[in-house]
Amino acid sequence: MAASKPSYLIVGAGVFGVSTAYHLIKKYPDRQVTILDQDAYDADNRVAASWDWNKVVRADYDDIVYTELALEAQDVFTSDPLWKPYFHQTGIFWVCRSDYAQDVINNYKKLGRAADLKAVTVAEAKKLFGGLFEDANYDGAKEVLVNKTSGWSEAGNALRAVTKWSIENGVKYVVGKADSLEIDSSGTCTGVKTEDGRTLSATNVILSTGAYTAKLLEQAAKKSGNKNLRAEHRIVAGGITTGMTTLDEKSYQRFKDMPVGVQGYTAQYGPFIGSLPPTKDRELKWWGEKIFKNTHEVIPGSFISAPPSGKDYNQWDVPGPLKLDIDHANDVFYGKNGASWKMDKHRICWDAFTTSSDFIISPHAAAKGLFVATCGSFHGYKFFPVLGKYVVQMLEGELRPDHKEKWAWDRERPAPSLNPDWPRFEMKDLLDQWPKAKL
Ligand SMILES: Cc1cc2nc3c(=O)[nH]c(=O)nc-3n(C[C@H](O)[C@H](O)[C@H](O)COP(=O)(O)OP(=O)(O)OC[C@H]3O[C@@H](n4cnc5c(N)ncnc54)[C@H](O)[C@@H]3O)c2cc1C
Repeated sequence: MAASKPSYLIVGAGVFGVSTAYHLIKKYPDRQVTILDQDAYDADNRVAASWDWNKVVRADYDDIVYTELALEAQDVFTSDPLWKPYFHQTGIFWVCRSDYAQDVINNYKKLGRAADLKAVTVAEAKKLFGGLFEDANYDGAKEVLVNKTSGWSEAGNALRAVTKWSIENGVKYVVGKADSLEIDSSGTCTGVKTEDGRTLSATNVILSTGAYTAKLLEQAAKKSGNKNLRAEHRIVAGGITTGMTTLDEKSYQRFKDMPVGVQGYTAQYGPFIGSLPPTKDRELKWWGEKIFKNTHEVIPGSFISAPPSGKDYNQWDVPGPLKLDIDHANDVFYGKNGASWKMDKHRICWDAFTTSSDFIISPHAAAKGLFVATCGSFHGYKFFPVLGKYVVQMLEGELRPDHKEKWAWDRERPAPSLNPDWPRFEMKDLLDQWPKAKL
């Protein structure tokens, strides 16, 4: 008797999960591909990091593997009718305090990729784009990278469109929250159990659960008695504050064609921070410089970082001191030009981090049939169009050796201190001057 066809259960409908479903159903239209997510794909409110007003799409990396991958993704963003309507090629303006600009330019060269990008002096940079960044902070800056081919995507809209396409082409979308994994007596993962008691089964179970991944694995380890399921040092949930202002008509006219702004720092100082051009609703966005863990007892006896357990990860409940982080971001980009802007939206966005900022796209070592595809580490969105291609390669044992090594579940990992974007704070320590919020 012929073996039955493989089936796929993808937990999590962010860019990793949806891209995987998209590539699977394109390759195997007759196979069963199911996505399980706690939120409906078209809900007004979602917890996914991938669900956002906008995200930067760029190939400006000092790591050549991600330069190559981002260029591949950007080619889809600029040409495929499914992604193209959401991509805005505004360019990027990146204040560099290291050799970052030269590394990026060299990577483009090594890959034989011609693009309108260059490094300019601070004095030249201040005059670009009508002087929008004339009053930015350039302390310690070496030069400014300007890449006219980079830009941003309407993140949530693109995610919704690609999910819808996948459903229309055969993917089943189930709303529910995975509580644990089903592991049979031979140690094979056969599916998941949801909080409301349903069991979903498949021959391949792929966790694309973003910031929740370590907590889910902790719960699964406890339920199954298999401690090796735990993420341990591999995956850490980190949060970052974002904020928005609605520009008045005069400011909108001045800023509407602005590039993405980035303030880059060294690992000793901290993460890069950014400002995204206004949406059609005239909303200009920043992300802050404080990246934090939320370490707490997720199940009795297990202390790990995970998003808050309140509704929607309490993402809209942003305490005052974290709002100040956005005021700081405004100041270092726009100085006096933005001093009177009122912030009218704040959100804490949660992502899964690894110390090297590499994704994990790998079989899980502790259970057959179980795979992990997540850990965007604050930079995963831009790869949305191609992530699933590599997840399918991983499922079929066809990943390029360097990708396999880079994205492995078990590998040597660098010290977090070398990573500027590593969550270096605890959320509770950032709230000292504020009445304690329930985290
Ligand atoms: C503030 C901020 C700004 C960023 N800016 C950029 C940028 O400009 N450019 C860029 O390229 N990247 C950016 N990133 C990174 C990028 O957003 C993430 O790396 C990427 O979106 C992660 O995708 P994901 O699919 O792993 O996780 P997510 O998008 O978080 O999706 C995980 C999904 O899993 C679901 N889920 C979790 N647990 C369960 C469960 N138990 N049961 C059912 N469903 C579950 C969630 O509901 C969610 O839908 C940013 C991240 C943040 C936080």
